[in-house]
Amino acid sequence: MVIMVTQVQRNMKRTHLTKYMKPFFPLVGLAIVLLFAQAYCDLSLPNYLSNIVNTGIQQGGVDSAVPIALRNSSMSHMFIFMTPANRTDVLGHYTFVNATETTSENYTRYIDEFPVLENESIYVRNRINETEIARLNPVIARAIIPVGFMNQLAENSTLASQVFFSLGFNATMVTYLTSLSIDELFTFLSHSPTQVVYIENMINTQLAFGETVIVQAAASSIKAEYAALGMDTTQLQLNYILGVGGVMLLLTLLSMACTITVSFLAARTSTGMARDIRKGLFAKVENFSSTEFDKFSTASLITRSTNDITQIQMVIFMIIRMVFYAPILGVGGIFMALNKASDLWWVIALSVLLLVVIILIVFSVALPKFKIIQKLVDRLNLVARESLTGMMVVRAFNKEQHEEGRFDKANIDLTKVSLFINRLMVVMMPLMMLIMNGIAVTIIWIGSSQVAAGTMQVGDMIAFMQYTIQIVMAFLMMSIMFILLPRASVSVTRIVDVLSTDPVITDTSDPKRFPTPFNGIIEFRGVSFRYPGAEADAIHDISFIAKPGQTTAIIGPTGAGKSTIVNLIPRFYDVTSGAITVDGVDIRDVTQHDLRDKIGYVPQKSALFSGTIESNLRYADEAASDEFLQSAILISQAAEFVSSRPEGIATEIAQGGTNVSGGQKQRLSIARAIVKKPSIYLLDDSFSALDFKTDSALRRAFKQNTGGSTLIIVTQRVSTIKNAEQIIVLENGSIVGKGTHTELMRTSGTYKEIAMSQMNAEELV
Ligand code: ADP
Repeated sequence: MVIMVTQVQRNMKRTHLTKYMKPFFPLVGLAIVLLFAQAYCDLSLPNYLSNIVNTGIQQGGVDSAVPIALRNSSMSHMFIFMTPANRTDVLGHYTFVNATETTSENYTRYIDEFPVLENESIYVRNRINETEIARLNPVIARAIIPVGFMNQLAENSTLASQVFFSLGFNATMVTYLTSLSIDELFTFLSHSPTQVVYIENMINTQLAFGETVIVQAAASSIKAEYAALGMDTTQLQLNYILGVGGVMLLLTLLSMACTITVSFLAARTSTGMARDIRKGLFAKVENFSSTEFDKFSTASLITRSTNDITQIQMVIFMIIRMVFYAPILGVGGIFMALNKASDLWWVIALSVLLLVVIILIVFSVALPKFKIIQKLVDRLNLVARESLTGMMVVRAFNKEQHEEGRFDKANIDLTKVSLFINRLMVVMMPLMMLIMNGIAVTIIWIGSSQVAAGTMQVGDMIAFMQYTIQIVMAFLMMSIMFILLPRASVSVTRIVDVLSTDPVITDTSDPKRFPTPFNGIIEFRGVSFRYPGAEADAIHDISFIAKPGQTTAIIGPTGAGKSTIVNLIPRFYDVTSGAITVDGVDIRDVTQHDLRDKIGYVPQKSALFSGTIESNLRYADEAASDEFLQSAILISQAAEFVSSRPEGIATEIAQGGTNVSGGQKQRLSIARAIVKKPSIYLLDDSFSALDFKTDSALRRAFKQNTGGSTLIIVTQRVSTIKNAEQIIVLENGSIVGKGTHTELMRTSGTYKEIAMSQMNAEELV
């Protein structure tokens, strides 16, 4: 348990996950204080219950052997069984109330409570503390028990004769003694020290068991005395039970209030922390460069920021509810139980041992499975995402069955592991119950014989049983944590992995600024780039200059490295060797924000966001004027289709832009780039879905309106770039030709080949 908690803590520390905990420390502190209060209440209850059984029921509400009042006659009878010193001691704690002084203050005060005062003087107990009571208990018990016993004999002559015979009297004496009144009997006894010693010894052997049994033995005598005093003994008993019951009710309410408050605090802490971690995770992922996105799959990042965080949230809740409470309850329970019946310690030891063994076995079997389960959830997400996003392709190729199979496999794998874990739980819970009931039976078995022998009280046995059950519950709670903690520690590691991954692309500590006025001259100087983990360079030794007011086109077969070149300019990746400068400044020396501020990027796969056409365009510039938005739409040749929609610019765009065609999406993406008014345009194969007519109209309008900008176009179409000032021909990551269309037609075989395959003879000139 402790090992696992520290393991989770270590993970948390490693990446300052603790920083997410700090704001919640006061709440957790308060929860711990409340848990102590709750444990105090819960642990007190069995004790009070045992009081109700022992004192309330069995002793008729008499909680000590020191009566609150005694008749004068009883006191003098008791003296026979006391040493002179004890007599003085006892008298010192009682006040004499004379029955003849009917006008005295004490008489009027006590006459209602003790009606016997009308006929006989009484002794009333003074204020006295618990320790004094404990000291006096055996002294008075040893005297009041024989007095009660003698009183019984006076009322029951058959019992009396039996007892007198056993005391060694002959038949004549027995007849004489049984005929005596109670007072005469005690007068006789006071003159027969041998008999007194005999009775004292008899009682001593009975009382050899201990304090609680002494009180219990004296209880019936005291109750008889109370009845003789004229007190309502039923009411006395009821008052005791109601009093203790009331305290129990209050403790239960307090415990309940603590439980509710702790749950509230735990919920606040866990959800709050989950919210903060999610926020932190999202912020981190937002800063990730493409390298990190390649490292963690999108599916995994989604699982981590949802499922894994939920795991942690759940565990934090449980930790606050249980991890602190279980040990308090367990240790407290052991203490209280041993207090009730210390000789039954071995029952607790045995049950704890059994539980520890079971928990350890379950733990060792379950932990590896938990590690797997999160990976399987990842896999399931991945498969589901892939086949759902590619649903059209799946259908077109009639591959539904294949996809189903793939999904089924992931699903079945996950189900199998989950089932295994659940089965383990299913076995564990009844096993725990079996142990719990076994313990109860054992305690009753042993306890009942001890009760019969008079060495244990029934209430103490019941309390002991309840404490043992509380101890078992504490262990049960810990076992639940054993199940949850490893799983959470897997989740923590997975989140920590993300949080501790520093993006490879970062701003320098001392960033430069671009010179003003900004021109937008892009220069590649011997740039090579290799994707992380790849075996060969994607592009190699690339050098060229792209100038403002000019179009630089990159052409080449698929996989030649065209997109790679474009992605290096906004620093989606950093060059492996060489350098890229913009206006003479290495792009690694300025902030990513400054750099990207200058760039209008239209990716190969246009990404639109859910919202309207307008909100998508304003993504580039919130403050852009309506006229400017319209002109961007005009330039990008989107005007016709935008105005054909009844809502025009307010047309809804579905999530992922699925309700517009590929070509429309490209045009809106270009319009979005135009709204940004950048100095550099990067168009990565952005005309591919346009028909030739729209393509050329767009290029013309684009050139007219963005004349001063640097334009880099990646394309497969020669017609798109025929008029470009510079065309770079790429093959296998290297430049194999550079120049204008006319120059390249003469000098580059590769270019000529591409051109010939696309255009007819007249167009080629
Ligand atoms: P083009 O745009 O010319 O079709 P790319 O620049 O996309 O080509 O790709 C160039 C090479 O780099 C290809 O061989 C491709 O497989 C590889 N590549 C592209 N993207 C990645 C990536 N994220 N990780 C690893 N390799 C990549």
